[in-house]
Amino acid sequence: ASVASTTQRNPDFSKITSDDITYFKKILGERGVVQDEEKLDDANTDWMRKHKGSSKLMLQPRTTKEVSQILKYCNSRCLAVVPQGGNTGLVGGSVPVFDEVIINVGSMNNILSFDKVSGILVCEAGCILENLISFLDNQGFIMPLDLGAKGSCQIGGNVSTNAGGLRLIRYGSLHGSVLGLEAVLANGTVLDMLGTLRKDNTGYDLKHLFIGCEGSLGIVTKVSILTPPKLSSVNLAFLACEDYASCQKLLLEAKRKLGEILSAFEFLDVNALNLVLKHLDGLRDPLPSSVHNFYVLIETTGSMESHDKEKLEAFLLQSMNSGIITDGVLAQDINQTSSFWRIREGIPEALMKAGAVYKYDLSVPPEKMYELVEEMRARLGSAANVVAYGHLGDGNLHLNISAPQYTDGLLSKIEPFVYEWTSKHRGSISAEHGLGLMKADKIHYSKSPETVLLMAAIKKLLDPNRILNPYKVLPPSILSQS
Ligand code: FAD
Repeated sequence: ASVASTTQRNPDFSKITSDDITYFKKILGERGVVQDEEKLDDANTDWMRKHKGSSKLMLQPRTTKEVSQILKYCNSRCLAVVPQGGNTGLVGGSVPVFDEVIINVGSMNNILSFDKVSGILVCEAGCILENLISFLDNQGFIMPLDLGAKGSCQIGGNVSTNAGGLRLIRYGSLHGSVLGLEAVLANGTVLDMLGTLRKDNTGYDLKHLFIGCEGSLGIVTKVSILTPPKLSSVNLAFLACEDYASCQKLLLEAKRKLGEILSAFEFLDVNALNLVLKHLDGLRDPLPSSVHNFYVLIETTGSMESHDKEKLEAFLLQSMNSGIITDGVLAQDINQTSSFWRIREGIPEALMKAGAVYKYDLSVPPEKMYELVEEMRARLGSAANVVAYGHLGDGNLHLNISAPQYTDGLLSKIEPFVYEWTSKHRGSISAEHGLGLMKADKIHYSKSPETVLLMAAIKKLLDPNRILNPYKVLPPSILSQS
């Protein structure tokens, strides 16, 4: 049975009344109070169309003050809320489970300042990632994160999920590049932590509590982020390896020989490639002369075209001569670059088109990573298509099991096996997508009991009525105990 079907509505939460609606209209105006069924249907349904709530109300604040007023009121009335950004999350965290009020900060989408010397961008949480990427491009800078959902996801959602993505290998996680943020607590208190300093050791760095808390501790309203300069020379290679051991050797060699210019190292297996070629239009196999078992995308970003090309070509030649790669192609122009990236970034979409999909986002020691995939294939036989891809450079495997439909029988063959396997190898059951609803009750596979209890105590301190994103992140049973 799914988590959603076994979760009970917390009876402490109030139900929305017409007085509540009147209050929200008073502070937000008609525009900010959405009761339209079609719009609510979209906001109640997650990207995977797997989780669906039944909220009758979405609020769209335009300022931090409005967010504060909403939360203060909801807290006093014990109305549960779900913070929502672009609703691209993959663990059922961004949609209501029952009738929680949806608070979407998408209308808070202003860029507040950009310092061209330091590269520090300050913006509101509702800015769409792709819009920030375009803005920075005009300024000669880039965002330190990039991911396939960039056209819809918001920076507030990225921060709240501590999104990783394609450039983490080069620029590190948001715990490093986010310099400050503003967040509103459940009782409406506005926490101004919107620093723009690289260094600030005045006590506990509380912004980190909100990076990756998935809306369970507060609503992020503003973000300050350090952005790297855009460098002139970007190259992308699409390579083939015959076995997984070669992918690992290639990673090690790439780190050694491309070191300072390496900006992405992504892998996909042949099942992932076939799925994309079958379900997405206009894409061709970049290496059509024969079928390979594994594919790797290597991106380099540097400041001198001739130097970078020379390095990359020498690296590829050596890798070819030593048999680590068996085929490969360098993107020749912007169209080829974007179609290579489209293959990698389009895998989640292709999986959705293929039918039901069980998604696992695991941190696993790289040398063990593909063993899990092979064991899963052996367990499931012909019942499902086991597809693997991910951010190999960061030890992050996206294990996806594609089947014609969701069945309890198939689920019981996958879980808890996948979590037990990951825990046994001291991996993480959520490398970057978070826990959301899907994995709230699985946290113990990756965190010790003492750690989970401390998390619950922090949650209780910041949100004593547990109105913020209930049923997500932490198991409800632990919250009711502590
Ligand atoms: P939502 O989905 O709306 O929300 C996600 C969570 O954050 C929810 O728990 C929500 O309550 C909370 N939240 C949202 N906004 C706020 C806010 N302002 N304040 C407080 N809480 C908030 N993720 C990766 O890490 N790496 C990837 O490479 C990656 N690739 C993806 C590719 C595709 C095609 C898709 C569909 C998703 C991908 N994801 C990836 C997952 C997802 O896109 C990211 O987690 C993204 O950061 C979510 O942002 P969002 O604005 O859509 O947030």
